[in-house]
Amino acid sequence: MLSFIPKHEVQARAAAFNGDKIALALSLLPEAAKLAVVPVSQFHVGAIAIDGEGNFYFGANQECATASMGQTVHAEQSAVSHAWQRGATRITDIVVNYTPCGHCRQFLNELPDAGSLKIHLPHSRDNTLASYLPDSFSPKDLNIPDRLLTPVQHAIRQPENLDAAQQAAFAAAQTCHAPYSRAYAGIALVAGNEIYTGRYAENAAYNPTLPPLQVAINLLRMSGHDTSEVTRAVLCCTRHGGHEAMTRALWNEIGACELEIVWLD
Ligand SMILES: [Zn+2]
Repeated sequence: MLSFIPKHEVQARAAAFNGDKIALALSLLPEAAKLAVVPVSQFHVGAIAIDGEGNFYFGANQECATASMGQTVHAEQSAVSHAWQRGATRITDIVVNYTPCGHCRQFLNELPDAGSLKIHLPHSRDNTLASYLPDSFSPKDLNIPDRLLTPVQHAIRQPENLDAAQQAAFAAAQTCHAPYSRAYAGIALVAGNEIYTGRYAENAAYNPTLPPLQVAINLLRMSGHDTSEVTRAVLCCTRHGGHEAMTRALWNEIGACELEIVWLD
């Protein structure tokens, strides 16, 4: 399953487009859209986030028919969080097959390069985020210097005697983006011999915040797996922030195992 294209392969593939990486990405959007999980809307949105080095990260919208619509992941959120979980620290371009909704425009405004971020659509290339979101509300309006994807290591105490999955969930919480609430949270999903983690991604406008379970499920799916394969789900979080209730509400509908919780002091 194609969902990540490293920069050297991007360069090789772009040769067929006269070296135009955006044209390559636009041609791949139907592949990204195939990754959509859309039992409610049947509306397939595919996105590709391009990082500062030129790597491609696919994303697609994801819905759960039996959970709140508020648990939905949009394609741009999917692509950006996919990039984040694979280690990207900057996104320079978002390529997407439909115009970004207002929710996503605000979500993207949390990125460190929001001021220069380009959005490319099949019918319209090289649009700035600022042109889609004029007079925007951003982290700086709340005097927050932190940005999504910028590496951070929170000074939180690690609970004792953690196993590998719990340790992975803690590491995710320790590096999440929660400058507004300080309600740190991370998730680890165990499938086969692999651990897929998700970090909490807050937003200055609060509601476009992406919960850690969504980020982990997204990485799991972008890695070619399904929630039915998950044998352990570990949430590591603060007691404030509502993480347990939010996570259970979705995991109860979509998971095949019990949710374990490791509390942070
Ligand atoms: Zn959206």
